[in-house]
This record gives sequence, structure tokens and C-alpha cells, in this order.
Amino acid sequence: MQVLKLYNTYTKKIVDFQAINPPLVGIYVCGPTVYGHPHLGHARGPIVFDVLHRYLNHLGYKVRFVRNVTDVGHLVNDGDDGDDKVAKKAKLEQLEPMEIAQFYTDSYHLMLQQLNVLPASIEPRASGHIIEQIEMIQTIIENGFAYEANGSVYFDVIKYSKTNEYGKLSGRILDDLIAGAGNDSRELEGQNEKRNANDFALWKKASQEHIMQWSSPWGKGFPGWHIECSAMSKKYLGSTFDIHGGGMDLLFPHHESEIAQSVACSHQSPANIWMHHNMITINGQKMAKSLNNGISMQDFFKGNSPLLEKAYSPMTLKFFVLQAHYRGTLDFSNQALIAAEKGLHRLMTAYTTLQTIKPTENSSDLNIESFQKRCFEALNEDLNTPILIATLFEMVTLINNLSSDTQSINSKEFDLLKNIYHSFVFDILGLANESNSNSQHLDGLMQLLIDIRHEAKIKKDYALSDEIRNKLITLGIQLKDGKDGTTFSLN
Ligand SMILES: [Zn+2]
Repeated sequence: MQVLKLYNTYTKKIVDFQAINPPLVGIYVCGPTVYGHPHLGHARGPIVFDVLHRYLNHLGYKVRFVRNVTDVGHLVNDGDDGDDKVAKKAKLEQLEPMEIAQFYTDSYHLMLQQLNVLPASIEPRASGHIIEQIEMIQTIIENGFAYEANGSVYFDVIKYSKTNEYGKLSGRILDDLIAGAGNDSRELEGQNEKRNANDFALWKKASQEHIMQWSSPWGKGFPGWHIECSAMSKKYLGSTFDIHGGGMDLLFPHHESEIAQSVACSHQSPANIWMHHNMITINGQKMAKSLNNGISMQDFFKGNSPLLEKAYSPMTLKFFVLQAHYRGTLDFSNQALIAAEKGLHRLMTAYTTLQTIKPTENSSDLNIESFQKRCFEALNEDLNTPILIATLFEMVTLINNLSSDTQSINSKEFDLLKNIYHSFVFDILGLANESNSNSQHLDGLMQLLIDIRHEAKIKKDYALSDEIRNKLITLGIQLKDGKDGTTFSLN
């Protein structure tokens, strides 16, 4: 079979995926900074990397999927000055920073569950890996690529660049960065401790009032934002692992700095392949607090925003995201979401229809294997989910033709058709039949009530059994007692 090809942001080339240690595959994806509820912009990454995770599982790999939780070190302006995002929120709400981190981690997990995203194998927290970060910083200092200044430690970008390419991943040229920094005459806290304005913090000295701080060889302080990912990916996946993922907004400075730190520590690039997904825009505009166009995930699912004409289900959002290639832009609009809702409905209805089809004994001239081949080809071509979905829609047309007897299928091909359709829709794209899960819940609940009523009747508690029946009638649910037990119908 054809190999999986992925676009490597580091080399700017499509490359063959070759696991370092097959059948094991190590993936590290930058996770959330947990100081607020996830919003629409946070949904794309988990959906995209879930397809990668699921597809590699399907191909028989054993995936160790690591996604970190940033609960310390990410400062408000993404640089080396300003408040810590989690600590600032904790002060505002008069809570422990770990209460904030836990609350918003739970909120993030709820979104992942709603989007039917497979759980990570390991979810390391930055605050739980301070020792590993300190050890890595010490090695970088010993190797001559970092220096201490007034209780903080900075990465020496100029020194590193003499023997390594700083800026290769993000396509930034160091001379331009230096020129840009020179024009910026900010005299912010800590900036004057740096040998060069492009140096970034590995460790920051904490002032007394700073609520999250730890002892270190350089005094009390806290880690910089970038070092956590280098230290935790090394701990759980090794010095070089298979795939590092994240959003394009993390290319610089976060991922550029991660590469520099890992090379400065281990003389090895951390990941063989770097994958970056593009961002979601709203009506052509970037999502930003200042534009007031961010929508929290829970508001999105409830239709609770002036930007939404109605509520959209988690699977509609997932399908909408998968209809675009992950490296392309994705513009949110009600029109596009309504179209996605219809598309998803067609896909799910066809699956139900598929169960009702009876194969014939006549040999058929359908070539189901070619559908299978094209589905694999689409994903092997840098996870091209829009082409996969287009192929699935061709299968929907076939299913509808089989259902209306316009075409016929023999049982061997029918088994293959069912198998491919199920694998790609549910196992690999990770879509779920939402109406189905609701009706399963209803069936379960109704059976529970019917059993309780049955018990009540045996105990001659007719008051309770009548109450159950009558209250259900007011809810529009009718119970029917028959020879083979009790059934229900919805009015
Ligand atoms: Zn990261």
C-alpha cells in the first residue's frame, strides 16, 4: 500500500512518513493554556490531530499521543514580560492558580469529549515538571547557549545562530529580527538584562508577590513558556520523536524556541516532522478579543452568540472543520455551517440506509475496492480530508441507488462497502451519529422506567405504577402493555 505523506513545516516539503521505531509512533501537540474556556478557534487543532491519531491507529501503529497543559509560564503578551496568564486570572477570581488550571482543563476536556476526540496518552502539566525544566536549562547553560542575569536565565540566540539556523521553521531571518528589535525602544522589565532583545527567557526570577514560584539554582522563580514543551516532550517521547504538531500561530516564537532549546540541550532536532494547522476566521476576520468575535465552545453549541443564527452540534462543527484541508484557511459563516449540517446528515442517513440494503446473488460490476483505494489515497496525501469526504459522498450516491434498486450489489462487495464506510466515517474521521446517541439514551431511560413500573405492579404499588404512566402521558410518551411486555411511543 501507498505510504502516508505529510507536509513538514520545517523543510517546507511533503515527506514520506517513516516511524522512527515502528510500530510505535510518538506525537506531541501543544495543548491549551488553561486560563479561559475554549473558544471556536481552539476546536481546529484537536480535530485535525485526532484524524492523524485515528488514522495512524487504523494503519496499525501504536501511538503515544502527548498533549501538554500549560498552567504556568505563559505570560499575557506571549513574550518575557507581563503577568502569568493563569496567575492573573487566579488573582482576579481570588482562587488558587491550580483551581483555575483545573477548572479550565475540565472545560477543555468537555469540548474534546463533545467533539469525540480520542483522549491523549499523557497530558503532562508544566507545573508538574519543574525539575525536568530546571535540568534542561542547566544543560543548555553548560553547553554554552544560555546565561544567567539577575536571577533569570536567557537563551543566547546570537550564540546559537553561529552554529545553527534560528528562524528556519518560521521562515524568519535573524538579521531582520535584530533590526526589528533595535527599532523597538521598550524599556520593559527584564529586557535590559538580555544580551540581545531576541534572547528569550528559560527561567524568570519571581518577585515576592508572584503567586507561583519554585526554588532553582538561580533563586526563586518560574519557567519560561517554551521550555515546558521541550522538557516534557523529551521526557515522554525522547530527544527526537516522530511528529510535533500545533497551530500556525505557534510557529514563532514558541516552536522556533522549542527547536533551539532541544538542539542546544541534546544536539538533536526534537521532531522528524512538524505539522501546523491553519486558523479559523470569522466572516473573513481573524478571531480576537479586541474584535469581539470570539465564541466560547459551549455558547457555540447552544447558539448563544449574536454571530450565530442557530445552535450547531459538535459533529456539525467537526464535519465543517474536516471539509477543509488542515493547512488551508477556514472561514466560519452561518451559511457554511448550515451546509455542513446538511452534508453530515446525508452521510449519517446513508449509513442507516446501508443497514437496510439486501445484497443479491448476482455478480455485480461495482468496483468497491476502488473506493477503498481512493479513501486511503486521500488521507495518504497529507491528510486530505476534503477529498476523502467527496469520495464518501460518491459512496452515498451508490448507497441510495442500491436502496432504490437502481443498482445491485453482491454480498462480498456489500460487506466491503459496509466495512469501508464505517471505518472512514466513524473510526478515522471520528464522526458520531448524534441523533442515534440521543435515541439510545432515550431507549435506556424508558426501559429503566418501564422496569421500575413493572416492579411496582408486582409489589401491588399501583399508585406508583399509575403515576409513572400518567406523568409520561403529560410528557407526550405513551406506554402500551402487551403480551410480550411494555413498549412506548412518542406522540
Ligand atoms: Zn508547546
